[in-house]
Amino acid sequence: MDAANNTTVNFRINSWMENAGIVGLMRILKNDPRYLNSYSMSESAVKFDPKVLDNFSDLYFKFFIKNYGQVIRYSKIINEENWLRTLEDKDFREFDEKDLKRLTDWFDNIVKYSANSASYKKVIKFINSDFDVKAEVKSCNKKIRTLNKKNFLTKNSDEAKEILQKLINQLLKIIEYFSTSQAKKYFPAKTLNYIIINKAWNGVSFLNPQTKNLDFYEDYQNYFVVPVQEYLQEDHAKDKYVCSTCGRPVKKLKYSYGFINNMGYDLNKKTSNAWNFKNDLYICPICQFLYSLIPAGFTYNMRGQGIFINENSSIRNLQGKNDLVFSNMMRKISDSTRTSPYRALSAAFKDEEASGQHAPLGNIQLITYDTDHYNFQIVPIVASKVLTKAVEHTYNMKQTGE
Ligand SMILES: [Zn+2]
Repeated sequence: MDAANNTTVNFRINSWMENAGIVGLMRILKNDPRYLNSYSMSESAVKFDPKVLDNFSDLYFKFFIKNYGQVIRYSKIINEENWLRTLEDKDFREFDEKDLKRLTDWFDNIVKYSANSASYKKVIKFINSDFDVKAEVKSCNKKIRTLNKKNFLTKNSDEAKEILQKLINQLLKIIEYFSTSQAKKYFPAKTLNYIIINKAWNGVSFLNPQTKNLDFYEDYQNYFVVPVQEYLQEDHAKDKYVCSTCGRPVKKLKYSYGFINNMGYDLNKKTSNAWNFKNDLYICPICQFLYSLIPAGFTYNMRGQGIFINENSSIRNLQGKNDLVFSNMMRKISDSTRTSPYRALSAAFKDEEASGQHAPLGNIQLITYDTDHYNFQIVPIVASKVLTKAVEHTYNMKQTGE
């Protein structure tokens, strides 16, 4: 590996962990049109321009927000704005018990729940605003409880209208607070750190419980990205060790696989850093960076289940198969956050069959993640068809059984 060449960085097809990182990298860069041309792929490798590293943490979180962010509570806060404005425009003339129920459910389960959540409390300090969101929510809560008193709406209609006017006005200010660019940057990402990103790695950087008070954008950049930039600037001709994943020379044994969840990974297959080092396996900062991208390469639902197709015949196939599953998941996830990754896989099989490409998913390694564990399966050509049918069948049974 030519470490001195810092005009591009290369990642080669390797085991599932590196491959998931590669898919993650391409998805993150594709997610922002400005970076579409910052990488290129050959049959077995992806090259990218290290300039993308300058603000990589923004790109990293942006990817998760854009995709998984659509179904979290944060979006549900913002999305109610139009309805509230409609109520206001109609001067609450048609406001009835049904509307009150909708308003109360939304307020209790989305707004109040979020504002009082531990993760939101940690983010509030990064939002450049004097608006005391917790106090506002508390005041709204009082008004909502009053409106919910038995027959209050019908018996005290004038008073109810007055309360509603103030309440909706306050709620719109709360939405406004959550709609600023700072809020959009921090709140959804904070949630996704604990729903998606920590399914792949944990315990270090912003997922280290000790560093939780830092700005996680800066933390990601400093922990995973800056070491890559430094590595690319340094001369490695005299380095004593080699990375046990990619073989790049390394000066110090500093970075390890330790932060990757339940690797289920056969470390014995990795090359030792030096031949008298048998058990201590270390990696270079570039591989550490690559592994931080695993959560972007997997396809998850919002219930801690994920899937990755380790189709290693080529980068194009690796990306194509996984993106098919991912786009199916993103379509289904707004209907149900529990939607099974198997179902997305099955739908992807069907799409591919329908497109007439006839490139069956055969003899490939399927990696699934469920409640903290990885499972590995080899899917032979015949079985992949059977699996498609079986998954559909199970799904249909569940649908009718519910
Ligand atoms: Zn490496």
